[in-house]
Amino acid sequence: MPELPEVEVTRLGFAERIAGARILAVRAGKPLRWPLGIEPGALVGRQVLDVRRRGKYLLVDLDAGLLLMHLGMSGSLRFARDAGTAGAHDHFDLVTDLGTLRLNDPRRFGAVVFVEGESDSRAIKLLGGLGVEPLDALAFRADDFHAALRRRKAPIKQVLLGGDVVVGVGNIYASEALFAAGIRPTLPAARVSLPRATKLHAAVRATLARAVERGGSTLRDFSNIDGQNGHFQLEAKVYARAGQACLVCATPIRKILQGQRSTFYCPTCQK
Ligand code: ZN
Repeated sequence: MPELPEVEVTRLGFAERIAGARILAVRAGKPLRWPLGIEPGALVGRQVLDVRRRGKYLLVDLDAGLLLMHLGMSGSLRFARDAGTAGAHDHFDLVTDLGTLRLNDPRRFGAVVFVEGESDSRAIKLLGGLGVEPLDALAFRADDFHAALRRRKAPIKQVLLGGDVVVGVGNIYASEALFAAGIRPTLPAARVSLPRATKLHAAVRATLARAVERGGSTLRDFSNIDGQNGHFQLEAKVYARAGQACLVCATPIRKILQGQRSTFYCPTCQK
């Protein structure tokens, strides 16, 4: 599943190239998770101003309204001058004078939703409950993070995955950040002390920033806007390393299930 770094890598791959483009046509394939919310033809003639990201949503700003795009479980975007004929899993094309932005999504949990603005009720429904942006240094602060954790009894891994304290810390990155911070994934969030929360805060930021730098993760055949694979998974210290020696202390890495998701940790390094 595309996580925050993959979505950010996707954004960086086409944001500058599509800025200023004029929409020539919109092609909708099979229904996605939510309806587009506007007649596709009504978008023709509008201009793309910018592409931003909020959590795992891409916000394509138009000169009137914006498109919220989500990659769901299996979605990927391509932007190309000559996109060629749409395939069986291509469910949305935004054809512009600078190229075609195409959503390929075999499982169709992704979505493209038009809203008039971010105060639109549909936008609030999708974006309103999101936690702070981990890569935004002003919004994501260690003391606020600690205060938010103090109110949660759930295991710290689950709280990170939940997305309402901080967005975009998906399954791989949660395991990696907790390892980097030396925190046991099962520890109740409320019991993470301020010094340890500060360490985790730094680890979350560093892990996600590094993943963006490396082009996202290769899991679930993620590839960037030009079809190249990311390399973050090659660097994972605990994720998908069950039974292998911890790189710090040589204890075998353990795998457990939390909320039906796999968690990997070192029983010696993480308390
Ligand atoms: Zn260890």
